[in-house]
Amino acid sequence: MPLVAENCLAALYRYQLSHRSRQVELFHKVADCGVWEVSLRNGRVWCSQGLKLALGYPETYPRVPLRRLAARLHPEDRAAIWTHLRAARRAPEKVQFRLDARVRLTKDAWSWHEIIAEMQHNEQGEPVALAGVLVDISRRKHEEELAQAASERDALTGALNRRGLDRQMAACPTVSTRHLILFDIDHFKQINDTHGHLVGDALLLQLVDRLQHELRPEDCLVRLGGEEFAVLATGMQDDQAVALAERLRHRVADAPFCVEVPGLGAPVSVAMSISLGVARQACDDAEPLGQLMAEADQALYAAKYAGRNTVVACDTSDCR
Ligand code: GH3
Ligand code: MG
Ligand code: MG
Repeated sequence: MPLVAENCLAALYRYQLSHRSRQVELFHKVADCGVWEVSLRNGRVWCSQGLKLALGYPETYPRVPLRRLAARLHPEDRAAIWTHLRAARRAPEKVQFRLDARVRLTKDAWSWHEIIAEMQHNEQGEPVALAGVLVDISRRKHEEELAQAASERDALTGALNRRGLDRQMAACPTVSTRHLILFDIDHFKQINDTHGHLVGDALLLQLVDRLQHELRPEDCLVRLGGEEFAVLATGMQDDQAVALAERLRHRVADAPFCVEVPGLGAPVSVAMSISLGVARQACDDAEPLGQLMAEADQALYAAKYAGRNTVVACDTSDCR
């Protein structure tokens, strides 16, 4: 080929190459993601300039070592990545995988990213490289976590709801016992009928606020529905759990609640009481919630039957 034509061709390749890399960097900026490729032959890593900078390497840094890149993946997420990687290597044709993982871009902070990767094959069908993008999803993850936390709370009182209780039960350590204190406001229908539903709502809110102060940070106050609540407490002796139930009872009955609802005139003072049932269960019990709830419910029923404003502890031999 004549020299002039060769030079033209080289200039054209250079132009196409720089055009490509400009496109990759634009992609990085617009989609907030990094582009990368790992050679399976020699473990060499290619990163887009934007990703290199995000990882803390200067633009001129020739190649980010694979070992250092792997160290940026959260230890708890690495196993899932290797599993995907092994499956993709064994697959006879192009295979793509995606997963969420925590990545440490800067020195200390982990942030959530989605890894979308595709195994590249040569003409003989052998896997030769893994290429993909790293998409920052930390904002979405944060919103998901907020939505998850909100879905476990009761909208009126802010106490945990049944879903939240289920998650707490699942997280309970197996070495400890747990107590469930089930309680229900006495004659709440009458209170609603006398003062109106809005006052009833405000009372539920104040009740939760009052009782929350009697609990340890690790105890959970749950609104199971209507005017029925539960406290889940772990690591207590039976007498401590009953003492806690008594404290809750006193906290409600000893002083009236003062409620002011905007637009409903002067504040009203309402005396309330609660009835409580206490049940205990070892954390490694096979039936996690149903049996415990049934026993506490039976004790609560007994407390109502005994005249209300009372604590009844479920005697294990009676309840089972
Ligand atoms: P007991 O002492 O036997 O528990 O009597 P009670 O009147 O408390 O029980 P009952 O089950 O007859 O009535 C419960 C009442 O709780 C009826 C319902 O209007 C009221 N309630 C349930 N949920 C709410 C709520 O979210 N807000 C208000 N204001 N009232 C509620
Ligand atoms: Mg009631
Ligand atoms: Mg009830």
